[in-house]
Amino acid sequence: TRQWQLAHKPRDEPQLSGPEQTWKLAEVDLPEPKDDEVLVKLLSFSNDPAQRGWIDPDIPAERLYVPPVQIGQPMSAFGLAEVVESKSSKFNKGDTVTAPTGWTEYAVVKAGSCQPAKDLPNGLNKTQYLGALGMTGLTAYFGLTEVGQTTKDDVVVVSGAAGATGQMAVQIAKKIIGSKKVIGIAGTDEKCRWVEKLGADVCLNYKSKSFAEDLKKETPGPNGYANVYYDNVGGEILDLMFTRLGQGGRIIACGAISSYNTSSERTTGLKNWFEIITMRLKAQGFIVLDYANKFGQAIETFNKSLQEGKLILDESSETIVKTPFEDVPKTWLKLFEGSNQGKLVTQLV
Ligand code: NDP
Repeated sequence: TRQWQLAHKPRDEPQLSGPEQTWKLAEVDLPEPKDDEVLVKLLSFSNDPAQRGWIDPDIPAERLYVPPVQIGQPMSAFGLAEVVESKSSKFNKGDTVTAPTGWTEYAVVKAGSCQPAKDLPNGLNKTQYLGALGMTGLTAYFGLTEVGQTTKDDVVVVSGAAGATGQMAVQIAKKIIGSKKVIGIAGTDEKCRWVEKLGADVCLNYKSKSFAEDLKKETPGPNGYANVYYDNVGGEILDLMFTRLGQGGRIIACGAISSYNTSSERTTGLKNWFEIITMRLKAQGFIVLDYANKFGQAIETFNKSLQEGKLILDESSETIVKTPFEDVPKTWLKLFEGSNQGKLVTQLV
């Protein structure tokens, strides 16, 4: 099978060519599946900003939550795949599953690491299991409910609002929790209008010149300050949010994509840190896997909300990029260009 292997750990932007090319295409022989293993053919890949952390040369393994990818190893990734040979009683040939397969055309994986991807109602694509009905949906749910303890009385701000996690955070806050005001932040006007369609009271374009002013208007002090900030991006937007959270405000530290490709920015300070002290703010980081024992409960809530028409999931919730295997890294990099609305999915062609 062909697979993409890590060739060089990038400090800044991953490189598609040149002496510091991040990944190299390799051809390897796969072992025969053993008992309780399945051979799968990859159909689609999930694109996750988190994958950037797994190839970073500056983050020690003990400070990550998954083993980092080593040079020469296949790039770690989640995929949607079809079972072509099964040595497990759990799966039959022809079943579709999601699994941690890596960037490979075929993989032999433990049946225990595969989740069945059953047909979905309303013509929904099975790739939804990689996004809204999978990790990113669950991330938004547990971030808001467990980490942020978000309630209907809260004014909630969500950055990265038009992304995979953000689109669910906006909908869960507004339509499942019922928060009184939900403000989205995203990178284009078009994305912002879509986020408002999903239920946000308003969505602001952070690339607009008037962004800081617009945000101030939507969170006027002292009574209109935000209570909860769902942070997908870190950096300048986080810094600005320190000044828009009211007393006792909570920061759900989910991601910091604005700094993943810039080694220098990771060490620069936040200008408004003092606001944490004066406003008694609380920031808590989390990893979705911390809540693995409650995933079933969240998925039930999603299914119920889908039936009740509270959750909007359709073709607009995914950006599916048809990709030949040679371009898998190129499609992944689109995450950092913001070219996705909803979940960025690589569909192998
Ligand atoms: P998204 O679908 O949100 O894709 C990334 C988006 O980030 C882009 O579309 C772009 O949208 C935005 N973006 C890119 N660069 C910047 C920048 N410099 N400043 C602001 N926004 C930027 O990805 P995910 O939903 O998968 O992930 C969102 C965040 O959640 C990431 O930080 C990720 O690491 C984190 N995460 C954390 C998990 C956890 O367990 N803690 C689990 C899953 C994800 P735009 O056009 O708006 O700029």
